[in-house]
Order: sequence, then C-alpha cells, then structure tokens
Amino acid sequence: METLFNAVYNCIYELGLFTEKIFGGFFKKIGKFLKKIFQFNKKPFSSKAFLKRTLAVILVIAVIGGGAFALYASSNKTTAVTLEIDNEIVGYATSQTEADLAEAEAIKLMGSTGSKTIKNNSVRVDAHNIKSVPALAETLVDKLSDGLTLVNEIYIDDSLLCAVTDPQGARDAIDEALSLARKVYPDSTVSFAEKITMKTAYYAPANEKLFSISQLKAALKKPGTLTVLHTECEENVTYTDFETVEIQTNTLFVGDTRVRREGQNGTEYAVNLVTYKDNKKVMSEPLMSVSLNDPVSQIIERGIRAQSLSMGSYTVYQTTGIFCWPVVNLYTVTSPYGHRSLGYHRGIDISGANASGSLVVAGASGTVTEAGWSTGGYGNYVIINHGNGVETLYAHMLDNSLMVSAGDVVQKGQTIGRVGNTGYSFGAHLHFEVRINGNRLNPAPYLGLE
Ligand SMILES: [Zn+2]
Repeated sequence: METLFNAVYNCIYELGLFTEKIFGGFFKKIGKFLKKIFQFNKKPFSSKAFLKRTLAVILVIAVIGGGAFALYASSNKTTAVTLEIDNEIVGYATSQTEADLAEAEAIKLMGSTGSKTIKNNSVRVDAHNIKSVPALAETLVDKLSDGLTLVNEIYIDDSLLCAVTDPQGARDAIDEALSLARKVYPDSTVSFAEKITMKTAYYAPANEKLFSISQLKAALKKPGTLTVLHTECEENVTYTDFETVEIQTNTLFVGDTRVRREGQNGTEYAVNLVTYKDNKKVMSEPLMSVSLNDPVSQIIERGIRAQSLSMGSYTVYQTTGIFCWPVVNLYTVTSPYGHRSLGYHRGIDISGANASGSLVVAGASGTVTEAGWSTGGYGNYVIINHGNGVETLYAHMLDNSLMVSAGDVVQKGQTIGRVGNTGYSFGAHLHFEVRINGNRLNPAPYLGLE
C-alpha cells in the first residue's frame, strides 16, 4: 500500500516538473517581453508613453485575435452544391445527390419546373448555409411557383380529365354525378367503374386544362367519361334436366321401348349478385342456392328379344299326360306336390345336373297372361292360359331369360325361358304349377307321372 502511494506520488511529482519545464520557460519569456515594453524595472514612465504602449499591446492582441478568428472561420467552410433558378442561388445542398433529390421532390410537388431551369455548381460555403432536402424542395417550390396557381388535377383512371382550384367543389361535383346515377337505379348499389383520383399541381393561369366547377360537371356528364356499375340481387329458378336410364328387357322385341318410370326435372332456386356495366351484365356471383326438387331419372325399357328366336335344336319330351315335360333334359322331381317342411307345396320342382340355364317350354299351346317379376316369391315367372279354365305356371327362371310377354300366343313345346334360382328358391329348379279354374292341383297326373 505504501509502495503504491509512493509510486503515485512520484508520478504526480514528475508530471509537475515536466509541466514547469515546458510552460515555465514560455511564461518567463512573456514576462520578459512585457517587462521590456513597460520597463517595470527602470524609472517610472510618463502617462503618454503608457498610453502608446497600451495601444501597441491592444494592436498586437487584435492582430493575433483577428488572425486566429480568420483561421477558425475558414476552417468552418465546407464544400456544397448550389441550387440556382435562372442563375439566382436559392439554396445549398451537401452534395449533388441531395441537390438532385430536392429538385425531384420539388418537381413531384409542382408537376414540372415550368419554363425555369435549375442549375448546380460546386462551391465552398459556411456549413450553416446548407439546408436539408425537404427545406430545399420547399424553397424551390416557393421560387418556381411564383406566378403559378396551385390546382387539383382530376384523373379518371390514369388519364387527366382536367384541373380545378377548388378541391371540395370537385368532390361535390363527383358526388353529384354519382347521385344522378343512383336516381337511375334506385334499388341497386351504384358505383363508377373508373377510379377517380385527385393530385395537386401548379398551373399557369392560361392552362387550357384548368376548368371551372361547372365545366368539370359538364365533363363528368359527357358520355364516355364515366361508366356506371350497378349491382342487384336477382332471384332465379332453374330447372335441371332429368337423366334417362335405359335397361334392357327381353319382354320386348328389339326396337321396342317402354317407359317404366316417367322422368321429372329438378328445380333449383338461386339468388345471384349481378353486376351490370351500363346495363350490360358483366358479373354474376351466387349468393345462395336451394334445391327445391331433385331430378328423377326416367327409366326406359329397351327390348332385346329377337323377333325370331333360334334356340338350336332341342327335344321336348311328350308325356302320357296332357302336357309335354316343361324342361328340356331335366327329369328329376326334387320336391313333389303336397305337404313338406316349408309348408304346403302347390306345384312340383324339377331339377337335375347342370339345371341352371336349361330350356323351359310351354306344356301346351295357349296365350301368355303374365310374364315378369313376381313379388310373391316366384322370381321370374310365366303363366300360360290354355283355355277351358286350364293354366300352367313356370317359376324361378333366370334373369333376362324370359322369351315371352303377356299377350303372346305360344305353341306346345315353345321355349319360354330358362331354369334359374330367382325369387324364393334355394338352388336352380323349375317350379311348375297346374291351375284348373284357379285351383292349384297336383301337376303329376297331367305330366303322366301317376
Ligand atoms: Zn316348387
């Protein structure tokens, strides 16, 4: 601690000695100089001499001070760029870049520099004469707009319509034009298709684009200046066409068709936002839509039954009964007439190997009274009326295998369909019934089985 204190003390002491060495000599010299002037160590001097010497001292001080001030002042000068309008300097910028920026800003505010030109020169001036870009731009606008009028240019989209000196009057004129358009379409949302904008500029009083408010109103009314858009809510009922579906059927001859279900058009209610441009529809946006009725497709049956059906050659077995055997090549009675576990069986079932697809033939000649799909479990079935109260029924035939339609006259042994497994059936077989005056009797005797 003591060592550190001594070190600091020594340091300060050395610094004192050093300062005295430098400045001591200097002050000694000034003292000698003053002593010499006023001769303090000699005899007292007269008041005249004292005045003379005092003035000399003041002069010396003034010369030194003046020199120092000139040195200081010249050191505060800096390079700058002038902004001159028609050779008159109106301001200084720090650099050419700032001068150009100020000029550009002024032109933006003015529209143009008009007939006047702006020049720049590089000079040295006192720093306090230099102004910022916005201040210079303002000065330029002041000088350039001398004799010009501040106006509001009116643009329709990007093209200049005119300029007016009264911006509020211009806004009122535009509002008036819009109100006029609204009167034409009182129930619509009305606007102009064009964008109307205003921009300030400086015009010479003689500028031909400088309009009065009444001239502006006339210009706005002129056809072609503005386009009126009006938007309306429109209700609309539309109809959707129904689809037509075709299904094939062999209950009809080729070329014949039958409508199985009438088609119905769908109805849709919609509200659209429709925009008109001078009465011409330009846009339609759906707001909402509701389906009132879905379309119902039309079903058409188209005949695929050949006019003359070639079945190839087949042999029909003539029984000892009044009917021929109703199936070609299938002779097994798998379930006879009478009681059975499933209930009373009012016909006989005929099947055998490869039963499905075997030809079913008419047991006797007659007229087809029913041919089609049974909802009672018969599947695809045919009933033939043989006259005198005698009928036969053929059930469970293959889909699309019926070869006759109600009303057809058939011959004994003529094919009427093929053995299948449709309706209430478990395995391919023909269910054959004999009906006498509407009573379903045991077919066995009529087929020569008993
Ligand atoms: Zn049966």
